Amino acid sequence: MNRLLPRGAILVLSLLPWLVAGCATTGINSGQINIISSEEEVNMGKDFSLEVEKQFEIYENQEVTEYVAGVGRDLAAVCDRRDIDYHFAVIKKDELNAFALPGGYIYIYTGLLKALDDEAQLAGVLAHEIGHVTARHATERLTAMYGYQILVGLVLGEDPNVWAQLVSNIFSTGGFLAYSRRNEYEADRLGTVYVSRAGYDQRGIMELLEKFQVAGEREPSKLEEWLSTHPPTADRITRVRSLIAVSAGQSSQKRNADQYARMKRNLP
Ligand SMILES: [Zn+2]
Repeated sequence: MNRLLPRGAILVLSLLPWLVAGCATTGINSGQINIISSEEEVNMGKDFSLEVEKQFEIYENQEVTEYVAGVGRDLAAVCDRRDIDYHFAVIKKDELNAFALPGGYIYIYTGLLKALDDEAQLAGVLAHEIGHVTARHATERLTAMYGYQILVGLVLGEDPNVWAQLVSNIFSTGGFLAYSRRNEYEADRLGTVYVSRAGYDQRGIMELLEKFQVAGEREPSKLEEWLSTHPPTADRITRVRSLIAVSAGQSSQKRNADQYARMKRNLP
């Protein structure tokens, strides 16, 4: 595990030419230091996802998987980063959680699917996670944590065991990648834009946050990344509410509660 200790600062300095040559941003995240190329990020995400799917139980129900992936694809089609393929999968675990790996690999837990009321709320979760991918928060965090050289070493597959360590390391620190508050607000903001572009009622995101707030008070142990590492939920609700107010009138009202209820019957 020692070799995974953060030593990014020195590496970043010694890799200064990369910052100029290899700075791939989507425009959303411009001005941020992100020296991992989009292609490297996708390769990393693929390896990462294989390890996640070893360590977590994937819920293999065709109706549920296709439903989630269908909503996800509609959102990905209108997001600000369309140069990559997005993958959506369901993890069988009774927790209110969802996360995005680098490169567009997005996971949602059955516990969260059960807690939601309709497709607009599901779209809110997925759009938030797509926002993290669009703004490339994962590679930003990973680079800060481990340094560029270690990450590229992982992509090149120098030591496959390191993946297992990396995954358990990241998931044991209480929340995936421990995104900053700024990251979370940005993902919320992008999420409200994407749900609206895809024709969903933006209030789904707010209702979703309200659910987290209630659950956080009642059963904090059931919340992983969405609350433990996120900014205070009340803050996020206020911000999302003002974003929705600004775009009021432009937003569609799609909720698809009936379709969602039918999908839910297939949950464990
Ligand atoms: Zn987040």
